[in-house]
Amino acid sequence: MSDMPIDEFRKSGHQLVDWIADYLKDIEEYSPLSQVNPGEILQRIPSSPPHKGEEIENVLKDVDKILMDGITHWNHPGFMAYFNSTSSGPGILAEFLTAGLGINGMLWKTSPAFAEHEKAMMNWFRQMVELPENYWGIIYDTASTSSMHAIASAREQLDLGFREKGMAGRHDVPRLRMYCSEHAHSSIEKGALTLGVGLEGIKKIPVNDKFEMISQKLEEAITDDIKNGWKPFCVVATVGTTSSTSVDPVEEIAAICEKNNLWLHIDAAYAGVTAMIPEMKWITKGWESADSIVINPHKWMFTPMDLSIYFTRKSEILKQAFSLVAEYLKTNKDDEVENLMDYGIQLGRRFRSLKLWFVIRYFGVDGLAQRIKNHIELAKEFAEWINNEKDFELMAPVPFSTVCFRYNPGNNSEEELNKLNEKLLEGINASGKIFLSHTKLNDKFVIRLTIGSIRHERRHIEEAWKLIKECSKKL
Ligand SMILES: *Cc1c(COP(=O)(O)O)cnc(C)c1O
Repeated sequence: MSDMPIDEFRKSGHQLVDWIADYLKDIEEYSPLSQVNPGEILQRIPSSPPHKGEEIENVLKDVDKILMDGITHWNHPGFMAYFNSTSSGPGILAEFLTAGLGINGMLWKTSPAFAEHEKAMMNWFRQMVELPENYWGIIYDTASTSSMHAIASAREQLDLGFREKGMAGRHDVPRLRMYCSEHAHSSIEKGALTLGVGLEGIKKIPVNDKFEMISQKLEEAITDDIKNGWKPFCVVATVGTTSSTSVDPVEEIAAICEKNNLWLHIDAAYAGVTAMIPEMKWITKGWESADSIVINPHKWMFTPMDLSIYFTRKSEILKQAFSLVAEYLKTNKDDEVENLMDYGIQLGRRFRSLKLWFVIRYFGVDGLAQRIKNHIELAKEFAEWINNEKDFELMAPVPFSTVCFRYNPGNNSEEELNKLNEKLLEGINASGKIFLSHTKLNDKFVIRLTIGSIRHERRHIEEAWKLIKECSKKL
């Protein structure tokens, strides 16, 4: 009983590479947003597994026959919804290699090259976004996980014995409170849910007309909470919020955190990579005061899902929160090395840093920065087109590559405009040519167009604009 014969693996491997190459070559022939109905794909898959083995060729054929209709193509340049996440050639190759090596990097000993390569890549990336040397980095799967570890560290820093005694049923600990803006990502709330802080333990700070946290309101909230017996412990500032990509005033927030001895976490999951571009350095103001920062290369750095980078100046607190070394995990090198399992909830880890190595070396830092810069320029241009079209309006500033806009032909109530734009978005997405998403800003339904795919060229943005206008005429 053995594995697939090597010759067969080689043959199927070549077939698979050919399949992916053709897929990427022909990507624009697909519809970016899958148009299937719920249950349609499930129905096509046999309800019980095969007892006898099959050729991989058959499985590959069924990828086409069964799955492809139900794939929403994130690699399609018409995909301009949410935030892009695209697979570049070198990123895909590295994923393949990761599976081939099949390493579990839980301990230094379980693959020294893994542990040291991740360390080297964290050092590279730290320099790319110009963070000071005292930032220590680790790779997690997603920003949700990274931010959860930030909140866990902030909680551990309080030194209230949560590690041993937990939080519930104790009369010796106050209710904990953390702060973020009304526009912070839902993952911050999920982190609070997971860690026993609870949704009531989050205070959402109002934003100004540019959707940026009002730092004075933050300060007032902290003062009020202390007066009322809460224990403030953490502030999350967002650089590039999910709805409108606004940037919270990190420097001001950092000063408030310092004064009140609060953990400052920066959520730069989407926009953090722009720190590579000289013109965008302004976004990093105050970053050196943060206790932790999350940036996702799997969003806007052409790295296939998933790869999120968590930087902290206080890795010892992270370790204090999570290190738990079972007898069978002890090694004789523990005094000399970092075992990555000590820095988070997971034991096993995939070799994700390979993806960074391949992507960074293939494109070079300059190549990555140029691509991202080009996306920002395209977004500014698209925003201009919106501004110059009398029936459309821009709904938020455009600091990065995401444009929030709506159709507004005049003489409509806000309610009517919401309905109209909802209908417009449905029409656009039903065209099968592009895929846009939406949000609400001040209760107004807003269409969002994001540029950030490695395959985005000017022509795609022009075609999208043409289509949007055509669809608006049909309303
Ligand atoms: C996308 C995003 C997240 C969540 O990212 P995941 O990696 O999917 O968990 C969190 N915060 C911000 C600001 C984001 O844009």
